[in-house]
Amino acid sequence: MSDIIAKIKGIVGDANVVTADMPQYLKGNEQPAAVVFPGSTEDVVGIVKAAYDADVKVNVGGNVVETKGLSGGIAVVMSRMNQIEEVDPENLTCWVQAGMNHQEFVEKLSEKKLNFPPEPYAVSTSSIGGCFSIGDVDSKAFNYLPTRTFILAYESVLPTGEVYKVGTKCIKCVSGYDMIHFIAGSRATFGILTRVLVKLLPAPQAAKAVVADVPSLAAAAKAFKAIQKRKVFPTRLNALNKALGNEVMETSGCLVLVDIEGFPVSTAQYAKEVEAELKIAGASFTKVIEDKAEYDELWSKWLKVREKINLEENKVKFTVGPAKVVNALGSLSGIVSNIEENPGVLVEGLNGKITVFTDPDANAAAINNMAMGLGGNVSGLLGSQLRCKAYNDNEMLEEISRVLNSIRSEFDPKGIMAPGIKL
Ligand SMILES: Cc1cc2nc3c(=O)[nH]c(=O)nc-3n(C[C@H](O)[C@H](O)[C@H](O)COP(=O)(O)OP(=O)(O)OC[C@H]3O[C@@H](n4cnc5c(N)ncnc54)[C@H](O)[C@@H]3O)c2cc1C
Repeated sequence: MSDIIAKIKGIVGDANVVTADMPQYLKGNEQPAAVVFPGSTEDVVGIVKAAYDADVKVNVGGNVVETKGLSGGIAVVMSRMNQIEEVDPENLTCWVQAGMNHQEFVEKLSEKKLNFPPEPYAVSTSSIGGCFSIGDVDSKAFNYLPTRTFILAYESVLPTGEVYKVGTKCIKCVSGYDMIHFIAGSRATFGILTRVLVKLLPAPQAAKAVVADVPSLAAAAKAFKAIQKRKVFPTRLNALNKALGNEVMETSGCLVLVDIEGFPVSTAQYAKEVEAELKIAGASFTKVIEDKAEYDELWSKWLKVREKINLEENKVKFTVGPAKVVNALGSLSGIVSNIEENPGVLVEGLNGKITVFTDPDANAAAINNMAMGLGGNVSGLLGSQLRCKAYNDNEMLEEISRVLNSIRSEFDPKGIMAPGIKL
């Protein structure tokens, strides 16, 4: 192992290889041999080739690396590769290095009146590589489309050490297998993303929020349905039960947070219609927020609540179609008692996602069965596997697993990359 560490030091420099005091860069209980900080694609190639030749496991992270299966391996932290390389406002694209901090990226683009909508839970610590590698979807995606939509091209280093480039600035760029969006959700199993060509949007000309104190989550969900029936589609349509809502502003019931982005005239009309439906739902208080400082303060508090939810271990998340949120909340009350007084319930009305603080061991299976009955599933991520498990269909589960693993081994014949990820 000392040979390979010496080799890697020769590539990235001694200062960019850490072998003692590593915990700050790691999550999990296993201990890699080194944490390495590449500064360029060439560095990543050198690290991965050295690991591949020596059959050593590798995992990667934006700032912190998961160590499952990584004992004695190499943890690659991308934080030095944190530059915006090119912003092209005419084509609405941007080349960015994979280790760029997500929040900083959004702020820099916003100075240029450009918008990159995906909003990870841990936005202040996430990286752009992690964003696409996880490929998750947030409560704005109903309007802005899922995260994968925002990757047009990328450069990655395959587990064999070869550089792989796919995609262009052209929107019409795919025929046959869609190898661009294939990367979304791959969680480093196909290699290390080094640079990403991101699709941008113009920043919205106007942004408004509507907040309301609504008697219950059920009343909020009914209002959400009515709002959608009016063909009003805000950017976010969320409700927080009392415990979480009070971390944003004091309410007697649940807090409804609606975000409306677009043009001045359309946002004003949408805000009126949203406010009207929330009043019909029994809101004791409603307010349209237009002042930029107040608007920014509201959404920064929301991001803090999201980060808190992210850190909570005792929770179950599930998704259903947005039209089924009312039914899902009704059925959830039969599984988890008194959701209004629960320490945490978040309803993301547009993407049909509900997060509830509860013991997953006790309740995840029942919640999954309920969600599947409404066309969704727990976590909204590993749909087919969960469905196979819920129906005890081991044959199908094995078949799905075989197909996924055979694709993975084409990219990673020695199985060195992302050892903690099981497909
Ligand atoms: C739109 C959106 C919504 C989200 N919603 C939720 C949610 O509801 N709940 C929740 O818990 N999380 C959610 N997340 C996930 C979240 O916040 C992630 O932690 C984040 O996006 C990635 O963070 P990170 O850069 O710290 O990645 P890390 O935690 O460092 O890595 C995440 C994964 O990406 C891989 N990875 C990181 N960098 C690279 C790279 N350069 N090349 C290849 N693979 C890499 C890692 O190996 C790991 O598998 C969401 C993410 C997005 C984008």
